[in-house]
Amino acid sequence: MLVYFINFLKKETLNPQQYNFLTAVSSYQRLKTSEVSIGDLKLGYGHPIRIQTMTTTDTMDTEATVAQTIRCIEAGAELVRITAPSKNEALNLQHIKNELRKRGYNTPLVADIHFTPNAAEIAARIIEKVRVNPGNYADKKKFEFIEYTDAAYHEEIDRIRERFTPLVKICKEYGTAMRIGTNHGSLSDRIMSRYGDSAMGMVESAMEFLRIARDESYHNIVLSMKSSNPQVMVQAYRLLVETMSNEFGICYPLHLGVTEAGDGEDGRIKSAIGIGTLLEDGIGDTIRVSLTEDPEFEIPVCKDIVSRYNNRTDTAPLPAVEKLPYSPFEYARRKSSAVENIGGKQVPVVIADLHHLKEVRAEDLQSIGYSYDEATDKWTIGDAAADYVYTGTEPIGFGLPGTLKNIVQSAVWQQDSESVFPIFSLTDFNNTTLKSDRINFVMVDAYNLAEEQAIVEYTAQLKSAAEDKTVVFCISSTNANAMHSVRRMFIQLAELGITQPVILVTDSGAHTPDEHLIHFATETGALLLDGLGDGICLGFSAGSSLDNPVVKGRTYLPVKDIYQFANNTAFSILQATRTRISKTEYISCPSCGRTLFDLQETTAKIRAVTNHLKGVKIAIMGCIVNGPGEMADADFGYVGSGVGKITLYKNKEIVKRNIDSAVAVDELIALLKEHGAWTEAINA
Ligand code: SF4
Repeated sequence: MLVYFINFLKKETLNPQQYNFLTAVSSYQRLKTSEVSIGDLKLGYGHPIRIQTMTTTDTMDTEATVAQTIRCIEAGAELVRITAPSKNEALNLQHIKNELRKRGYNTPLVADIHFTPNAAEIAARIIEKVRVNPGNYADKKKFEFIEYTDAAYHEEIDRIRERFTPLVKICKEYGTAMRIGTNHGSLSDRIMSRYGDSAMGMVESAMEFLRIARDESYHNIVLSMKSSNPQVMVQAYRLLVETMSNEFGICYPLHLGVTEAGDGEDGRIKSAIGIGTLLEDGIGDTIRVSLTEDPEFEIPVCKDIVSRYNNRTDTAPLPAVEKLPYSPFEYARRKSSAVENIGGKQVPVVIADLHHLKEVRAEDLQSIGYSYDEATDKWTIGDAAADYVYTGTEPIGFGLPGTLKNIVQSAVWQQDSESVFPIFSLTDFNNTTLKSDRINFVMVDAYNLAEEQAIVEYTAQLKSAAEDKTVVFCISSTNANAMHSVRRMFIQLAELGITQPVILVTDSGAHTPDEHLIHFATETGALLLDGLGDGICLGFSAGSSLDNPVVKGRTYLPVKDIYQFANNTAFSILQATRTRISKTEYISCPSCGRTLFDLQETTAKIRAVTNHLKGVKIAIMGCIVNGPGEMADADFGYVGSGVGKITLYKNKEIVKRNIDSAVAVDELIALLKEHGAWTEAINA
């Protein structure tokens, strides 16, 4: 049953409230988790969504770590995490903390622990919070499959209890908070053997530790379920909420993040899709956006994401849902009928919106993936080339490349046109006889209706339009809760048995590239992750702008023109939701005090020579301790294994160990060639 109930803790007394997932699908309601204290900072229980980041300096370099922590705090970080790979770094947290307090900064600090319980036990006595990874706190990963009987499994749990309980007791004594932070890429062999590489495995990995902490009556706990794949991450958090609620009757606060998201546009889009989808569900108490950039640049992105939910009271009422036609815990694409190249089993299409241009010229199509060479009269088509172009009331006046079709307003559409198709309002479509016999796009404004009678009439109109099998619905919403409205419309289509393909139409009214990216990624990504949508069309509403303002302390993404920006964003969203692959996928860690090379520079170098390898997943990881485990499903790995040394991986297997970093990129190219993953770049 998909309905689940979450009871919440009141400060002193249990005050169970029912939280219904069906309600969350059609309206915004923040999940009220238990309250956690991190120094003076309160987290969960309806407190504002907290923003955090992690330093990238060497923890033994007190001055550099203090300086970077201050830059993060001044940018707006409410918590700062610092890696503590061994006892020495854990001990040095005292000096870092003292120096920060001396300079007047009281922001709580978090120690990041992997593999080293002794470092955790030291750090828990010094700073306000420790993060442990249940995949490696008591286990060393050997990538082995082990058959466990129930008795053998319980023996393993006893072993973990023995290893973990001392830390729990210290945290309890010192009032230190803890994050049990599961990473998809570093699940223990025990979890992988018992639950597989699954969202349930991630949940159980944390639950094993959480149960032990609860047995000690320790509750100052936050949890996370990070993955570099937003789909896996969203499913794991939802499943964790359900599992905690069912088992304990309460839910502990949740720290949200997409790990190894990368840099630039892709990093922001992946993060906004994963984090934004869950925040739309009302799930999440603190966020970190992991970018392969300086940590202070993560903070404005966090603020842009969180600002969408501050004081959110703008929810227009939507019809209640009785039954979900899809599972929020596993991906399955909505079954739609195919209309030409839209819907069915085909990848989602991209519609470019060029209607703001007075007249579209051949050179304008360069922004949406098509370059025209007049001398040869030939088009070159890029991997991220739009499938349709909407030009409003002006059909395109020249011959289009074969893979591109034109959409125009129905009033100017000519019936004899081969590559031009009409778009109608719902009412106009039901009242006309002049239609295409191939594709008719029909606009639907989801639930911009106040009265029940209006909804009844609207439903009748939808049913009437859906009798025509050439219809492709283009669904948007002018409601403030647009994503919920469109999601509710998908449920209504399922209730009515309507299977026509659906294009997700989203306009943004924002003013900066980051804000637009976050808006587009959240509004459409949240639907695509649940298998909803056969295409995407991104546009800009009146009053929006795409300025690149120079603001102190903030880097904005470079933008060439709005059409290229919208087109690239659409393809990046489809790539991040893994619904249409059009480019190389990079899984790069954000770097931390363990990093053994300049990760930003190296990522840029690798990207420059491999960014034409469509569909290949390349991981660039800062250290050999966590890197291989965290690479999750990368095809190739480039991992720092010593000063000036790189180890290369094919999937999880080492293929070249400790090679000189000066030749490592060439060696990576050789490896790609060896495995048939290399092609020469066009114009290289
Ligand atoms: S993989 Fe990267 S972020 Fe993770 S511990 Fe290693 S260097 Fe730090």
